[in-house]
Amino acid sequence: MKNMFDLSGKRALITGSARGIGNLLASGLAEYGAEVVLNDRCQQRADEAAQILTEKGYRASGFAFDVTKSIEIKQAVATIEEKLGAIDILINNAGIQRRYPFTEFPEEDWNKIIEVNQKGVFLVSQQVAKYMMMRRSGKIINICSMQSELGRKTITPYAASKGAVKMLTRGMCVELAEYNIQVNGIAPGYFATDMTSALVNDQEFTAWLCQRTPAARWGEPEELIGAAIYLASSASNFVNGHLLFVDGGMLAAV
Ligand code: NAP
Repeated sequence: MKNMFDLSGKRALITGSARGIGNLLASGLAEYGAEVVLNDRCQQRADEAAQILTEKGYRASGFAFDVTKSIEIKQAVATIEEKLGAIDILINNAGIQRRYPFTEFPEEDWNKIIEVNQKGVFLVSQQVAKYMMMRRSGKIINICSMQSELGRKTITPYAASKGAVKMLTRGMCVELAEYNIQVNGIAPGYFATDMTSALVNDQEFTAWLCQRTPAARWGEPEELIGAAIYLASSASNFVNGHLLFVDGGMLAAV
C-alpha cells in the first residue's frame, strides 16, 4: 500500500510537454518512476525537452505531432506503442488561450481554441484509448481549468472549450470505465506560465487574484504534480470522471 503512488514500469505520454505545465508534469511523473514521452509539434523541441530529463537519469523520449491532426496522432501513437511499448498514462495537456471581448472575438481564433483545447483531447484520447481498451488498463488525465466551471471576461471561447473538456472527461469515463480505464481531470486555478504571462505582469490582476483566492496567491506550477501522480497511479483506481481542482480554494469562494 505504501507504494500506491509508484509509477515504475509505466509509460506516460504528455501532450504539449516541451514547456510549461506539461513539461513539469512529465518530470514529476518521471521522478515517480514513469518513462515519459514528451510531445511538441516540433521534433527538435520534443527531443531537447526529453534530453534534459535523460541527462537527469530519467527515461524520456520526444515525439512530434500536432494534437489537431488526426493522421499525425494515429501514426505517432502506433509508433510509440510499437517501438517503445504500451502507453499506460495519457495526459492531455496541450492548450492555447486568446483574449478578446466577446463581440470582437475573431472567428479564426474561436476555431483554433476549439480545435486545440477540445478536439485535440478527443482525437488523442480516441487513438490511445483503443490500445488501452485492448489491454483493459489505462489512465487518462485531461487538463481542464477553473474555466471548466467559471466564466470570465474576454476568454469565453476558452471557457467553452474547457467546459467541453470537463464533459469529455465524464463521457469518456462512462464509455471506458468497464475496460478498467480511469479518465479524470485536473482543473488548475491560476499558475504563472507563458500562457498567463500577460496576467502575471498585470499588477491590478494579481491584486484581484490574491483577493479572490482564499490562498491569496498565484499557484506554483510544481503544485500540480501531486494531483497528476495521484490520478496516474493505482492510488486512484476507483476514482473516475472526477475533476480535481488545484486552485487554492478559488472555486469554493464567492
Ligand atoms: P503554455 O505554457 O502556453 O504551454 C502550452 C503547451 O501546449 C505548449 O507546449 C504548446 O506548444 C502546446 N501546444 C499548443 N498547441 C499545440 C498543438 N496543436 N499540438 C501540440 N501541442 C500544442 O501553457 P500552460 O500554462 O503550460 O498550459 C498547459 C495546460 O494547462 C493548457 O491546457 C491550459 O489550458 C491549462 N491551464 C493552464 C492554467 C495556467 O494558469 N497556466 C490554468 C488552467 C489551465 P508550443 O510551444 O509549440 O506552442
